[in-house]
Amino acid sequence: MSNISLLSHREEEPEKGILYIVGTPIGNLNDISQRALNILKNVSLVACEDTRQTKKIMNKFNISNKLISFNKHNSLKKIPKILQDLKEGKSIAIVSDAGMPGICDPGEDIARSVKSEGIDMICIPGACAAITALVSSGLPSSSFVFEGFLPKKKIDREKILLEISKNEKTTILYESPKRLIKLLKELLEFCGGDREIMVARELTKKFEEHVGNNINSVIEFFRDKEIIGEITIVIKGIRKTDLKTNKSIIKKDLKDLIIAGLSLSAASKYLARKNGLKKSEVYNLI
Ligand code: SAM
Repeated sequence: MSNISLLSHREEEPEKGILYIVGTPIGNLNDISQRALNILKNVSLVACEDTRQTKKIMNKFNISNKLISFNKHNSLKKIPKILQDLKEGKSIAIVSDAGMPGICDPGEDIARSVKSEGIDMICIPGACAAITALVSSGLPSSSFVFEGFLPKKKIDREKILLEISKNEKTTILYESPKRLIKLLKELLEFCGGDREIMVARELTKKFEEHVGNNINSVIEFFRDKEIIGEITIVIKGIRKTDLKTNKSIIKKDLKDLIIAGLSLSAASKYLARKNGLKKSEVYNLI
């Protein structure tokens, strides 16, 4: 059965029983939209990641409304009550600390729950660090991959790093300033120092900085610096011709391993694992 919601926008006042996912600024408070302000002012209540953060916006625009906390620590506990309030006819806004709720923050959980209960939901679009960094980078931006924060577990992390190394599309990552150098070194290992990259720091804020060029020079720039602020990384995809060069390197490695005494099967298995390929793909290079 199809799932169809017809949502009219005749008025800018919030309607009963609707969840509003409200995008807020990623630094510069003037980036908030008039529509977002109207919703924050007029909903029955605003669920926010950190009430202190949301109060900064509310105070700047002279809005007072009921705030409840909704974050990664309490989201599972709070969702049933939010669903119940919506079913009883309240209108609720969800905001995160920065940007679009649902992009690497708990907005995702509530959006899924609300949809599965058949409750109407409207997104009031706002800033998003990933898109702001992508467009600022000047790298190909019509088709891209957003990975958010890389997983912490080594095996999962390396799987994605390998995918990034072979992807022809631009990739966007989020990272904390404390772990930026570690991530840049991993990107160096997987993508090589010549890969084009941009580190966007403090987007839309007073000390916004774009550090670009290739991975080698970006590491050089941040080496021995105290890195603070919020960071988004944009990595250019690999060129098709470079992918072909990779294959010719693997073919040469395969020949070397066979000359060194490994069987074709063992050498293919080893190189397949090392390069994230199927064994047959390496085997067939010879
Ligand atoms: N929902 C947000 C969005 O729409 O962009 C992202 C939330 S995620 C928990 C926070 C991460 O976004 C930060 O660690 C950083 O990687 C990135 N970020 C947020 N604000 C940023 C800014 N002003 N400049 C650069 N990156 C930013």
